[in-house]
Amino acid sequence: MTGPTQPMDASLRPEEYKALYEIGRVIIQMEDAQAALQEILRLARPVFIFDNVVLYEDSGEMLTPTYARSIGRGRSLEAEVDWGETVALQALQRGEPVVESRVASGEESTEWGERLGRQDFLGLPLKNLEGVRRSLVFIRFGGPPFLSEQVRFAGLIAELVERLLERQRLVERVASLEAERQLARLQEHFVAMISHELRSPLGFIKGYATTLLRQDTEWDSNTRREFLTIIDEEADRLASMIDNLLDSSRLQAGALAMDFQQVYLARLLQDFIDRYQAEDLPFELRADISPEPRAVWGDPRRISQVLENLLGNASKYAPGGAVTVSLTWEDAFAHITVSDEGPGIPPEQRTNIFKRFYRLPRHEEAIPGTGLGLHICRQIVRMHGGEIYVDSAAGGGAAFHVLLPWDAAPDREGGEA
Ligand code: ADP
Repeated sequence: MTGPTQPMDASLRPEEYKALYEIGRVIIQMEDAQAALQEILRLARPVFIFDNVVLYEDSGEMLTPTYARSIGRGRSLEAEVDWGETVALQALQRGEPVVESRVASGEESTEWGERLGRQDFLGLPLKNLEGVRRSLVFIRFGGPPFLSEQVRFAGLIAELVERLLERQRLVERVASLEAERQLARLQEHFVAMISHELRSPLGFIKGYATTLLRQDTEWDSNTRREFLTIIDEEADRLASMIDNLLDSSRLQAGALAMDFQQVYLARLLQDFIDRYQAEDLPFELRADISPEPRAVWGDPRRISQVLENLLGNASKYAPGGAVTVSLTWEDAFAHITVSDEGPGIPPEQRTNIFKRFYRLPRHEEAIPGTGLGLHICRQIVRMHGGEIYVDSAAGGGAAFHVLLPWDAAPDREGGEA
């Protein structure tokens, strides 16, 4: 292939050489093929006049334009003009440039106006790249016709466009290989992390069950109860981890089912807190709930799942202090806050913790977790048209904010208390 750095065609004029050289640089430098194509045509136009240009791709059954531009006089006539499809096809069939002039008959000529009275087409076949046949068509209105040296010059532009497309194909290939590699790494990480996380509750369950079953020891009823409680709790942990994994994969597949209805948030939160307070918590649970009988349009089970996750995190990452759940009503949003008195989350990590599998480095080895919980929370909240974010609570702990639109709830006026 002839390149802009090699001696090309002795018949080229210096400005044509210059344009080709600059086009070559564009191909090397630009990453976006469409933008590069546009730039190439912009650089070519001062030395090679055309009004329209189209790049066709042959799918085997039909020609599809993958790039088209009206630059000169064609701009105001886009809808009416012939975009040179037959010339593109001929060039592909013959495997060489095709030049065609069409002069409108007297009647057509007045209908189209003077500019379209004459149309010149130049179709250039591009090299077949990986089975894709393409053709580049230049169109001129009102003459002059394409001369043989211009056809040669356009052929060089077509070669450069081929290079651009070839480069684009390579870039896409590398990107898809990189994506595959990244996916493989992610899968490896996922399997390693999940097996680690599932093993630890399983280890407890197996250990305590085996201990209880030992024939050579008699356990008093208190110890038996203590061991069975551990087995029970660890089985719950295992079940919730598996639920999280299932939710996460359903979310990835866009198949997380939601059961939307009127949800009276104050009541839901109060019930939730009453239930939680009855349990043995590693923190003091406080509530500050504005009791207005307003509803949001949501799935009560999923909203509770979000709260459970936030309280579960507070018990893991901020044990010892108090956790406050509050509810206020803003213009368009119900605003739930869950704030703790733990170490908080550094500002630079506050978006990361909502990403799938992300965990703060200081927790990775120290505290069990999968990094899925907050990701699932964010998806659930967004499916409600809301948002979740974290900032710093007054005492420096983490404050998670959940905003749920309450305006969107149909028939919210007729609600119950
Ligand atoms: P998991 O708890 O399973 O790791 P999450 O997605 O629920 O996953 O949380 C992601 C990470 O955010 C946690 O691993 C932890 O590092 C951090 N995090 C979550 N909640 C808190 C909190 N209340 N205080 C401090 N760090 C937290």
